[in-house]
Amino acid sequence: MALVVQKYGGSSVVDASSIKRVAQRIVATKKAGNDVVVVVSAMGDTTDELLDLAQQVSPLPPGRELDMLLTSGERISMALLAMAIANLGHEARSFTGSQAGVITDSTHGKARIIDVTPGRIREALDGGQIAIVAGFQGVSQDKKDITTLGRGGSDTTAVALAAALDGDVCEIYTDVDGIFTADPRIVRAARQIPRISYEEMMEMAACGAKVLHLRCVEYARRFDLPIHVRSSFSQREGTWVVAARPTPSDSEGSEMEQPIISGVAHDRSEAKITVVGVPDKVGEAAAIFKTLAGAEINIDMIVQNVSAAATGRTDISFTLPATDGTTALTALKKIQDRIGFESLLFDDQIGKVSLIGAGMRSHPGVTAKFFAALADAGVNIEMISTSEIRISVIVGQDEVDSAVSAAHRAFDLDADQVEAVVYGGSGR
Ligand code: ADP
Ligand code: ASP
Ligand code: MG
Repeated sequence: MALVVQKYGGSSVVDASSIKRVAQRIVATKKAGNDVVVVVSAMGDTTDELLDLAQQVSPLPPGRELDMLLTSGERISMALLAMAIANLGHEARSFTGSQAGVITDSTHGKARIIDVTPGRIREALDGGQIAIVAGFQGVSQDKKDITTLGRGGSDTTAVALAAALDGDVCEIYTDVDGIFTADPRIVRAARQIPRISYEEMMEMAACGAKVLHLRCVEYARRFDLPIHVRSSFSQREGTWVVAARPTPSDSEGSEMEQPIISGVAHDRSEAKITVVGVPDKVGEAAAIFKTLAGAEINIDMIVQNVSAAATGRTDISFTLPATDGTTALTALKKIQDRIGFESLLFDDQIGKVSLIGAGMRSHPGVTAKFFAALADAGVNIEMISTSEIRISVIVGQDEVDSAVSAAHRAFDLDADQVEAVVYGGSGR
């Protein structure tokens, strides 16, 4: 008997009829002789709607209360799903993240899982029941407060539970047939990728391909747990996220060559802050980034200009999640007099476009081709960063779509026939 963990995203449970459809799918897996644990997200755009509601009562809601509010979305869907399964004559039990033993640190809004103690889930399985767990939430170890894992975090709940229960596979059900060479909502000619390595998928997720939560891929890699991303609206085989394929030198008969580029990802959720007129002295950059770290802000790209000889001052620009913009600006203003910089600029009309592929390690010219494609599409590059298997650029937000399409075409990723189907979801 296999232990299957299935996760259904918000677009798979938008209303009563889709909850009933998902219930049938779960029961079929159970009837096939598997132990089944299901992780479920909030219905449709519930999380966004709850966030909007919170904004209406407070511009900066306390993290503890916001987490309490947001986790209610998943509790609605877990209970309804358990009822729908019971209606099909099977026993199901729903559990909150806390009841399922998802223990986290106490960073509200982006808590990290530090332990999973799924005793009650194990008990339910031993009793022949289907366990339904509310995604994206846990309980903090020290204060016993309810926490959330960050947007898209239900994927991580699913992988963490699969790892803790020694599951055979973690199936992520969503509104597209798998992982594509670009977001099918932008590139109609995107191709489905049959298998992708943890490494490449981590870069895709880190660069905004929200089909999988970044931490879920990190987690799966650590436990070598295969993830199968597929659609809850079709029976098609999806994409397998697995350990890297052996290279030709590793063993005989392995695949001959990796594709140079696996895909193009984009992210519209970042903003750019420029610290203008920073005195060009030792320790200034350290002070700025120490302040940001103290405010728990994750910085992505950084650019420091050459200082103007006349003034001995320089500008430092960096990108960060747009949602952390206010916190970052407030923290920096507090050190303005001490550092002596002139002013702060904030720009949230930016987007990041990234090219990802393990093959670029051994192929020169990828950067040149990428930049030429952007130039031909009339897209101006504002910032650049690279890793061994990724090149990212910051562009104007309204140029993201054309930049993604141009890069996709330039690297011959367009499919001859359109195969990408978007079954549901608002893309929000
Ligand atoms: P769920 O609600 O099921 O968690 P998400 O909206 O979080 O679904 O993720 C699925 C969406 O991810 C797709 O509808 C698609 O628009 C988007 N996406 C972005 N990049 C990719 C990609 N490379 N392959 C597939 N989907 C992608
Ligand atoms: N409902 C949460 C969100 O919208 C978590 C998830 O769906 O993974 O971000
Ligand atoms: Mg998601």
